[in-house]
This record gives sequence, C-alpha cells and structure tokens, in this order.
Amino acid sequence: MKNSFAIDIVPGNDPERVAAMARYRLFDTPAETVFDNMTLLAAATFQTSVALISLVGSDTVFFKSTVGVGKVRCAERGESLCALAIMSPGVMVFEDALKAPQVADSVPVKQGVRFYAGAPLESPDGYLIGTICIADFRPRTFSTNDRKVLETLSRVVMEQMELRLAAMNEVEAQKQLAEEKDAFLSVASHELKTPLTSLTASLQLLDRLQPDKTTPFGKMLAQASRSLQKLNRLVTDLLNVRRIATGNLPLNRSRFRIGQLIEDCCAHIHLEGRYQIQLEGKKELEVFADEQKIEQVIVNLVNNAIKYAPTSYHIYISLSCQDHRARVSVRDEGPGIPANKLPHIFERYYRSENQRTSGLGLGLYIISEIIRQHGGELGVESEIGRGSSFWFTLPLN
Ligand code: ADP
Repeated sequence: MKNSFAIDIVPGNDPERVAAMARYRLFDTPAETVFDNMTLLAAATFQTSVALISLVGSDTVFFKSTVGVGKVRCAERGESLCALAIMSPGVMVFEDALKAPQVADSVPVKQGVRFYAGAPLESPDGYLIGTICIADFRPRTFSTNDRKVLETLSRVVMEQMELRLAAMNEVEAQKQLAEEKDAFLSVASHELKTPLTSLTASLQLLDRLQPDKTTPFGKMLAQASRSLQKLNRLVTDLLNVRRIATGNLPLNRSRFRIGQLIEDCCAHIHLEGRYQIQLEGKKELEVFADEQKIEQVIVNLVNNAIKYAPTSYHIYISLSCQDHRARVSVRDEGPGIPANKLPHIFERYYRSENQRTSGLGLGLYIISEIIRQHGGELGVESEIGRGSSFWFTLPLN
C-alpha cells in the first residue's frame, strides 16, 4: 500500500480491526438514508463542504455516506485522511493542513483539502473501524465544543451500525429457524404419508362395507374420515412447503369453469350445519389452471373463514372479471385482522399471537405461492369488527 503521509497509517492490530469492521457488513454497500442523514447533519452543523462516513479497509477506505464529493465512493487507504484518523481514539483535527508536516505533502492536501476533522467510529470491542469526518477547502478553526459534537455524532453512527447489525442477525436467525423447521417437517411428512395412504384406503373400504351413516358405527366412520381428511391436508401442506422451497411445485393445467369448481368443493367442506356459503357473480368464467391446486386455495380460504371468523355464519364468495382476469373473493363478517398484522399473514409459519385455534401458519403462504405460480395475485382487505375479504386473480382462459 502506498502511503502519501509522513507517518505510519497501519495500526498493529490491523487484521483484527479489519475483521471487526467487516462484521457490520457495510463495506461496499449502497447508500442508506439513515447514514446519509447523519452526514447531512454534520455538514449543516459545521458548515463544511464535505462530510463523510468512512470505513477503513485493508487497502481502501469506503465511504458509506458522502456530502460534497460527487460520485466518489472510496479512496486509496494511503491517500485518505480517515486512515490517519483511526490511528488513535479521539477526534483528529487539522485546522490548516498545509501547516501540519505529517499531512502537508499528502494526496488529499495536494487536491485542495485544507481543513479536516475526523472522529473515529469505535466498535464496542474497542476497534477503530472508520470515521465520521468533515473537511473543507479552506482553513478553519475547530473549538472544544465542536469536538464534543463530532464525537457525539460518531457514537450515534456507531449505535446505528449496531442496530443495523442486530436487525440483520435477527432476520438471519429467523431464516435459519424456518429452514430447520422446513427440513424437519419435510422428513416428518414423508414418513407420515405412507401410513396415511394405507389408512385412507382401509377407511374407504370400511365405508363401502358400512354404507348406513345413521348407525353408531357409520357415524364413527364418517368422523374418522373427516379427521383423516384433515390430517391428509396437513401432510400435503407440509410436503408442498418443501416443494415450494425447492421450486418444485408442478402445475397440471386444464380448462375449467371456476364457478363449478367452487360449487363442487364447497359441497365437500364440512360446514357443521351452521355456515352458509353464498356464491355470487360470474359463475361462467373459465380459467386455464391447476384445478386441484385452485381447489386447495378455495378450501383453505373458506376453512380459514370458519376458523377465524366462527360467528360469521355467512361466507360470501364472489366471482368477477377484472382486466382479463378472473377475480375470486372470499369474504367473512368476522373480527377482521389488525392492520399491523396484515403485511405478515402470507409469510411462512406466521400465526398471529394470542390465538386459541391451532395451525401451522402455512396455509396462506402455500396458497399465495400457488396463485403466484399461476401468474395471479392474492390479497386481503380487512377491517376490525367488520370482517376480512381474501381475494385472488387468475388469468382467464
Ligand atoms: P394457520 O391457519 O395455520 O394459522 P394461515 O396461513 O392459514 O395459517 O393463516 C395465517 C394467519 O392469518 C392466521 O393465524 C390468522 O391469524 C390469520 N387469518 C387467516 N384468515 C383469517 C380470517 N378469515 N380472519 C381473521 N384472521 C385470519
């Protein structure tokens, strides 16, 4: 590394210091408003033409945020005053750089810099990883109070970097957790599938042997079939999550009338004699889609209405045509979903807390993927106390 300064600019602990800096994953990343606001604040407070937030790497200095240097985003370490500023704690100041022998012949001073003040960014474990600095093309004075202000700004920048790191770590931990859940559930669901298939076959056989549903045995059989259906749906959901994660959810498209499909599949949903489904609108609309998967979407939305809006005895399904697309909406008159939860309900494993019902938080995630793969959209409108309306669109045949 070429050093244009008259003193050494590499501290003894440089490898560890660079590693500490890299931990924040900010080097060579795009500008971020939060840091840009701080350089703007620094330039405005000290009335300087230049303000920077810099990170000192092993060979280059990266500017995470800049004011007054145009598109420049980095400098050679040996040509940056920031490299000098991280040599010791406390603010480094050159009120008139031409009069300071250690920097008078350096590249930045030759380029016109006369004033420089830089406060090191100190990581919690004591490494000086970069600076917040101000500079100007004419000499100027810098008071003790100015030092305090710049030092305080450097602490605020550091706190912001810590917060950013904590948020990134949290997101990664959640992602890893979701991946671990996926892996476990994938194995578990594969293991469950085989006995479930043979159980389903046995129940179907028993059903044929005992067609009378009014006998106690017939009733128990019907109940067992319903439970088994639920279990089958759960296992299919789990298998689908794995398929989605690996981009392997094949569509088997055909042409069908969506109104007919809704009528057929709603006839199979167990409504406990309490719920009524009202289908309205353009029942004749035809789509070209995977019928089984669209059935899964509708069944899921209706089951959710029953589960989360248990006192809404009417469930309205309406069919309309919008921009050459079929639009299906499933509306309940239940408690609605709070606005702060709405953006999350389609996320994998998301369940709103304080919930008395059971579930895996996978239903909406899976059906949103199914709709997405069809080139459609899935959304929700909800109002507290008035109910929710889940809708999806599909390209028309
Ligand atoms: P699960 O039912 O397993 O929790 P879903 O992905 O189907 O998973 O739903 C995610 C969350 O969305 C639910 O936990 C619930 O809080 C909310 N939700 C879904 N449908 C409705 C609805 N019709 N009314 C109110 N909340 C709903």
